Amino acid sequence: MAAGRLAPTPSGHLHLGNALAFGAAWLSARAAGARVLLRVEDLDRGRARDDIAAAQREDLRWLGLDWDEEVLPQSRRTYALDGVPVFRCACTRATRLYLGCSCRHKAHDRGHFRFDTPRGPVAFVDRARGPQLFDPDEDPILVREDGEAAYPLAVVVDDHRDGVTEVVRGGDLLPATATQIRLYEVLGWTPPTWLHTPVILGADGKKLSKSHGSTEARALRAAGWTADRVWATILPLLGLRHLDPAGFDAQKVCSGSFVVDAAGGILPPPG
Ligand SMILES: [Zn+2]
Repeated sequence: MAAGRLAPTPSGHLHLGNALAFGAAWLSARAAGARVLLRVEDLDRGRARDDIAAAQREDLRWLGLDWDEEVLPQSRRTYALDGVPVFRCACTRATRLYLGCSCRHKAHDRGHFRFDTPRGPVAFVDRARGPQLFDPDEDPILVREDGEAAYPLAVVVDDHRDGVTEVVRGGDLLPATATQIRLYEVLGWTPPTWLHTPVILGADGKKLSKSHGSTEARALRAAGWTADRVWATILPLLGLRHLDPAGFDAQKVCSGSFVVDAAGGILPPPG
């Protein structure tokens, strides 16, 4: 059976950008009669917190987004590299940034396991943005030196084993899609369909984060906002006024980025 997923990372409270991406994921799945799964992506043990995961569930329910099943969080799963071409990289972040990493052509016996990403163009269709063509040129860490799986491996393995058939998420992840499709290819799995929502930026032009606390669902609720007002503010970016799957059409979803102002209004980016 078809399935979509809501996959919050519990290192910060849900903000308007998350609400938009989760709203789109929920609308798309419900419109297709697919199941909705909730998966907590808490691999980053230094930053992921159970109390934030609980608050995110509460915020999702307040927003009117429900799910059919909560699957195991990533911290309680195991991941293997079977069949995935990797190389070990012992570079520091600064070395990679300033000098470049040549570990791909060496045979280190220590360091993180990076995906030896097959090069060449990857074509796929984004349900909102149409045909896409990316040349993946990054070799993401799949398993850290300490044995901990990293997000680029976990998200592909989990979407496959959870039976996720449609991925709907923030537009900032669009470029990573090509590398993920390469992982599906080497593992011999069928990729899901893809839909990337617009990115909502803070008034300072930066990606929403903890420093934009006033755009968090709980801050808006405390300021007297109703869930309907949240949706009336952001759903026009999905071509809708109300959270009603009957009206959802992926081709009406906007692309690009938008800015949220101090009063919670959504504007096109300047310039
Ligand atoms: Zn390296």
